[in-house]
Amino acid sequence: MNDPRGSHLSVLLDLSPTQWHLSALPSPANAYPLSLSSFLSQLLAFLNSHLACKHENSLAIFGALPGKSVVLYSSTNPPNVSQTIDANSYPPFKLVDSTVVLRVAEEMDNLDDPEEEEPIALVGALTKALCCMLWDSHLQGHQMMPDPRILILSVSPDHATSYIPIMNSIFSAQKLKVTIDVCQVYGPETVFLQQAAHLTGGSYIHLERRDALLQYLIMSFLPPPSIRKILSVPTQDRIDFRAACFCHKTIVDVGFVCSVCLSIFCQPVPVCSTCRTKFPIKTLQRLNASRPLPSTTAVNNTRSDHRPNSIRSKCTNNTEFQPTCSIKWYR
Ligand SMILES: [Zn+2]
Ligand SMILES: [Zn+2]
Repeated sequence: MNDPRGSHLSVLLDLSPTQWHLSALPSPANAYPLSLSSFLSQLLAFLNSHLACKHENSLAIFGALPGKSVVLYSSTNPPNVSQTIDANSYPPFKLVDSTVVLRVAEEMDNLDDPEEEEPIALVGALTKALCCMLWDSHLQGHQMMPDPRILILSVSPDHATSYIPIMNSIFSAQKLKVTIDVCQVYGPETVFLQQAAHLTGGSYIHLERRDALLQYLIMSFLPPPSIRKILSVPTQDRIDFRAACFCHKTIVDVGFVCSVCLSIFCQPVPVCSTCRTKFPIKTLQRLNASRPLPSTTAVNNTRSDHRPNSIRSKCTNNTEFQPTCSIKWYR
């Protein structure tokens, strides 16, 4: 917080029309319905709070829509619009508010009406956010912004088909020391976003009281990572470490890991489809024999501690195949 350049926040909005429609519908399973307009009004109050914390604080907002991702607002490249003078509003707040509302309405209106909605382009929005951070740091003499972070406001469930690109984006964020915070505003818990927050040192919150969204945002996500050490910010007490197999892109309880390239498969394969390594028939027989019966495959791979997933460190041991708690690898 002592850095004169302030803190940077990138916000990723999940703008899935179907999920927002479901979120706004009152039902016994949805005790606290939240519409997109109500969500946006609370979000704008949070974004204004971020800008109000320090004059130098910067902000970028991205939208993840079905099949595409867009930049909704960037304080380093603000839209050139003439504003009417209003004595009751602070111009920087008004610029963010009017731009975000207008851009979200534009993008939602431009969406086609297909029979089946495409998955939202979360990976595209995430990589855009990382690229914009890199570009801004390039403009500032290759100095990465202080406390860079990304807040993902998600309403969609996991899309297992995007497992590999999303994990690659998380590893890029980790390398750039970008913190990823996640607020699952509606829908089930997301395995991949839990892992994103865990691996980058961010917070993951699954919102149950949606009527208190603004309070959650301000209490948990307003303080930049550097001052969270002295605040009691919510952390995850349970993390789902399951992965998606590379062959069918489904989330697996028991996976088989290639000891050469760490590709994950849901069943023993004679040749790794990624690195083309061939495995001996004896290994395959042993792996097949060790597979749990269908009725007992449901292994809870949720761990209650904060240790990093042990797959990567153990898989480099290329001497003997050993089953772990629920991940098995070739050797
Ligand atoms: Zn598979
Ligand atoms: Zn391999």
